[in-house]
Amino acid sequence: MNIVLMGCPGAGKGTQSARLQDYFHLKHISTGDVLRAEIASGSVLGKQIAGIINKGNLIPDEMMIAMLENIVKATDKGLIFDGFPRTVAQAEALDQMMCRFGRKITKVVMINLPEKEVVGRISSRRQCKKCGEILHVTSAAEVLCPVCGGELYTRPDDTPARVKHRLEVYHKDTLPVKTYYQHSGKYVEINGDQEPEQVFEDIKNILEKVK
Ligand code: AMP
Repeated sequence: MNIVLMGCPGAGKGTQSARLQDYFHLKHISTGDVLRAEIASGSVLGKQIAGIINKGNLIPDEMMIAMLENIVKATDKGLIFDGFPRTVAQAEALDQMMCRFGRKITKVVMINLPEKEVVGRISSRRQCKKCGEILHVTSAAEVLCPVCGGELYTRPDDTPARVKHRLEVYHKDTLPVKTYYQHSGKYVEINGDQEPEQVFEDIKNILEKVK
């Protein structure tokens, strides 16, 4: 089973991918996490990537597709794509790549979240520097990860101005991917404006049927 998880910034793709990875024994590929790891390595490439991500813009398609190909060919496990594809060119490249590896996308799940919820959700979002856990804090005093004790941080692209820009990019470049997949017959939508446990149940029920 190879799943594409779609949704606007803050829709809960990372949270749900982590749960789905454990439940269905899949490999979670978050292109955002891959890029942030490159930035954390301090490489020249990482510095270039930071310049793009921190403005809320997209990394060029060719670079993303090459990065993704290296990850996909290194595993036989079923995959969850989180944050990829973000453009129609990436969606086409993903289909071609999967075909070359004798695999295919099984289902595309769109997590729908009303835009008025996005800024509020993202302003309380923190990620653990150590284990990558994503959570929403209720007070500024919450600075340590409840899972591993690592330091929590706010992503530089999670400021209200950057989020607004990321939403514009999402509308312009990523929403056409929805139309691409709607034509494939594999596309389903989930209400993301619910407790994470319920969102997980809804996605799980759909994927149980295609297992
Ligand atoms: P995310 O963690 O998925 O919210 O991604 C954070 C940022 O990484 C995005 O705002 C983009 O700047 C970049 N990024 C992640 N995935 C992609 C992709 N598939 N194509 C282009 N840029 C990406």
